[in-house]
Amino acid sequence: MASMVEVKDLNMNFYTMDGELQVLKDVNFTVEEGEILALLGPSGSGKSTLLNILTKLLKPTSGDVEIKGKIGYMFQRDHLLEWRTIMDNITIALEIQKKLTDEAKEKIESLLKAYDLWDFRNRYPRELSGGMRQRVALIRTLSINPDILLLDEPFSALDYQTRILVSDDITKIIKRERKTTILVTHDISEAISMGDKVAVLSKRPAKIKSTYDIELTLNEEKTPLSARKAPEFKDYFDLLWKDLDVYNKEEKNEG
Ligand code: ADP
Ligand code: MG
Repeated sequence: MASMVEVKDLNMNFYTMDGELQVLKDVNFTVEEGEILALLGPSGSGKSTLLNILTKLLKPTSGDVEIKGKIGYMFQRDHLLEWRTIMDNITIALEIQKKLTDEAKEKIESLLKAYDLWDFRNRYPRELSGGMRQRVALIRTLSINPDILLLDEPFSALDYQTRILVSDDITKIIKRERKTTILVTHDISEAISMGDKVAVLSKRPAKIKSTYDIELTLNEEKTPLSARKAPEFKDYFDLLWKDLDVYNKEEKNEG
């Protein structure tokens, strides 16, 4: 099988006024075609830094990164422009690159229709719910026809129930469009319910502590909502909870 992303012996240090900050240490992983890899790690462990290295916004201190294809990057906030309609928000990236061809327009139309946003194409972002806005942001990311999607905690601004519903929608879209995806999250349930594979990052300097193939027994298609009903869900939760070492700081006082 073809690996779409290969990360080898990646190290990243920041040099600041206070000295050197080691953020990533010997990070290795691959992502196969069509796979969703969930990168699970505590806040400040270096997840966004890692994504910024993959998109070449940042140059690593050492190591190799191989990317096969075009990257689409979706951020925590949707960054929709309030004064542009939904359609104009989606077409903006291609417009700027002067690549808004008839074919590209047709693709956008079919995405809007497939994912229940066609009737809202002439509305403004403020008229949409948080979940719909996130779907618009995904369609905008898909409009450049990326091979690999990078999602940086895309649901963390939404309330809990909305987050589950939106992650369900987004996962269905990613799977139907057959995109290779890296989802960065600090949420254990989100990682299990969306990922085909989960890799756990340790605290800083972050290493990949463990990797799990998520295999769930389900009578229906795996979606973030249905995944939570699988008997194995809790077992993965316990494993990941242990690997994340959530108690580490507090336990020191108790000896
Ligand atoms: P995460 O996304 O996992 O929450 P980040 O990748 O944003 O973590 O940050 C990892 C660490 O690196 C944090 O301690 C952050 O303060 C630090 N950091 C991020 N960017 C820079 C930078 N440009 N210069 C110095 N330190 C940085
Ligand atoms: Mg981050």
